Amino acid sequence: MPYSRSLVWLRRDLRLSDNVALAAAASASREVVLAFNLDPVLLASGRVGAPIVQTFFCALGALRAALRERGSDLALLQGDAERTIPGFARRIGAQAVFFNEDYEPAALARDAAVVKELAHARMEAHAFLDHVVLGAGEVRTDANAPYKVFTPFARRWRDRYALAPRLPVASERASRGKLVARAEIGETREVPEPREFGFAASHAYPMCSEAAAREQLDAFFESGAAERYRDERDRPALAGTSKLSVHLRAGTIGIRTCFARAFEAKATSPSATQIDTWINELIWREFYQTILKEFPHVDGAPFIEAARRIPWRDDPKAFARWCEGTTGYPIVDAAMRQLNTTGWMHNRLRMIVASFLTKDLLIDWRAGERYFEQRLADADLAQNNGGWQWAASTGTDAAPYFRVFNPVLQSKKFDPDGAFIRSMLPELAHVPSPAIHAPWERGPLMLRDYPMPIVDHHAARERTLAVYAPVLGKSARA
Ligand SMILES: Cc1cc2nc3c(=O)[nH]c(=O)nc-3n(C[C@H](O)[C@H](O)[C@H](O)COP(=O)(O)OP(=O)(O)OC[C@H]3O[C@@H](n4cnc5c(N)ncnc54)[C@H](O)[C@@H]3O)c2cc1C
Repeated sequence: MPYSRSLVWLRRDLRLSDNVALAAAASASREVVLAFNLDPVLLASGRVGAPIVQTFFCALGALRAALRERGSDLALLQGDAERTIPGFARRIGAQAVFFNEDYEPAALARDAAVVKELAHARMEAHAFLDHVVLGAGEVRTDANAPYKVFTPFARRWRDRYALAPRLPVASERASRGKLVARAEIGETREVPEPREFGFAASHAYPMCSEAAAREQLDAFFESGAAERYRDERDRPALAGTSKLSVHLRAGTIGIRTCFARAFEAKATSPSATQIDTWINELIWREFYQTILKEFPHVDGAPFIEAARRIPWRDDPKAFARWCEGTTGYPIVDAAMRQLNTTGWMHNRLRMIVASFLTKDLLIDWRAGERYFEQRLADADLAQNNGGWQWAASTGTDAAPYFRVFNPVLQSKKFDPDGAFIRSMLPELAHVPSPAIHAPWERGPLMLRDYPMPIVDHHAARERTLAVYAPVLGKSARA
């Protein structure tokens, strides 16, 4: 046993089960202590919002309770990790610090600085792959280059996984009997309320804990939703998706657990292709995480160099109407109200509102990305950036620039009877189904207090094509 005591530094992996760093620490050490560091600079940076802050605090509270039940504790630190992590490790007499990698550029820089400090203090640091199944560098082309297109990435990903599936790790069991007693850890700070850092709490934001994540996964498979996934996943009025994104973000569930459950269910289900579509979505997550690691410039800049020349419009009033959900397009407005009130938005709707902002309003995708960051409980730089750059046609394997979602047709197709729209926009409750997708077409009486459309979609589409073609059209690339 190389270490008598180790520290496990948790970040986006707030769980005891299927946690690679915890499993490794437990197997290499006689005793382990788990800690999380609250970074006030990050909390004040504007890059996190109330829903994700509440979600993380909720998960931290649940984890602390789970550890206290086992006679131990979650040590909650606060400050600059470069100082707090080595300081706490020294205080508890740890010889090594174990943690799981995070591909965000700011996290990589922070981790490098902490590892350096630990080395100065003569403590060892061990980093592990945990938040994705196959890491950047593991899924590459024959020429050992990173993939830029999803389909071949997914094919190779599946080949690799089939050869050597990465199954959930038994970290909870491994750590049993090795968790240091609470009294020895000493007092650390309370789990804060969001308001301590200036965030407003809401009961509508998702509950987040390891137990809740497990229940969610079970419910998705046991209710039959996974076996209807391909057919229902695009219908925002149905509970057709897993809603696991919040848990994958905070790490209250391990990604290996999700894949293993899905492949197992697929192997025996008569609806294997439905489940396979869900597996594909998890692979999209792996893809965007890999893109962020391999091409960190996407954080702040378009993946496609030429897309830097798109002349975005500066229109604060239109942006504000998009944010508050008063564009006059019911599907867009209902989606934004879902985001603003619940901290989550259905994937089909994320695509519709992102296309609307970038193509109908011609507003920079980075403004939408930032707004999502502040409003989503599952806000995750890799997927959020990937989704926005896909919609704006500036990203890797993005929608072609001439694909401009028609919000009325999308609405008719994916919310045919307007059930979702009505659930979010009570001001349209009186509008009959056929009219609800474009109520202005029935005259002002139908609208009552609801606004006229902010733009004419067809004219906006023409404007977008005229702006994009010289930048991203064939002749521009030739
Ligand atoms: C503009 C835009 C922004 C987005 N921002 C985020 C974000 O900040 N965080 C986030 O987790 N997802 C984001 N997504 C992807 C997707 O919308 C959400 O993951 C999904 O809606 C979460 O709901 P769910 O857990 O029920 O998904 P399910 O349909 O049940 O899918 C299971 C899991 O697969 C992953 N996944 C699903 N769809 C995608 C996708 N298109 N790309 C990458 N991974 C996917 C997620 O981890 C999800 O939890 C964004 C998509 C778009 C178009």
